[in-house]
Amino acid sequence: MPVIITAPHSACRKTALRRDCDRRAAQAARLLYDALTRVCDDVTLFLSDTHRDTLDLNRAESRDTEWWRRLREVIVEKASNGPVFVCDMHSFPSADTTSELRHLKAYFLILERDFHSFRTGGTKYAVSWSDWSFGLRVAQDVLGAENVRVVRGSDVNAILMETVGHRNVDGILLEVNEDVTILSDKELGEFMYRLADLLAATYCPVS
Ligand SMILES: [Zn+2]
Repeated sequence: MPVIITAPHSACRKTALRRDCDRRAAQAARLLYDALTRVCDDVTLFLSDTHRDTLDLNRAESRDTEWWRRLREVIVEKASNGPVFVCDMHSFPSADTTSELRHLKAYFLILERDFHSFRTGGTKYAVSWSDWSFGLRVAQDVLGAENVRVVRGSDVNAILMETVGHRNVDGILLEVNEDVTILSDKELGEFMYRLADLLAATYCPVS
């Protein structure tokens, strides 16, 4: 089963003093991609070259871009042969935010089964957390139970919304902390390595 990794906010300006991107999303996405390609023969990585302050690739208004056209093409092509898993990678700042999530090492954001879309007014099938609770267990195991959470997504998350639009496609959004004093490079590497093994065991059975 193919795995698609997206990082829509991974384009950063090298000279930016203020935070203009998800500063650790490309690092996390590449670590997951490298670990997955060892054990899974169908992995696609979509990093971004569009800055979020120009256009947010995780919002509905960006769906006419070339990046989205290619992403949809890959999803449709792979989903025609069987189930596809999309892992949408992000990172969040620990400082400069009052979010109650800022001290976590990582959190998953999902659209739950029978998720109700306020945009379309309809109820759609989405990934159920109970189907994917093993992902949380791996995160808790590597990072500590108190450092990981699951958060409910909403229909502003355009990539997750795309996954629920296809019968054969499941997806989650993963946010990792950008502060290396909270989530060290070593921990992030170990987390992505274990997550890759888990995804491969579940979605890329050896043929
Ligand atoms: Zn993001």
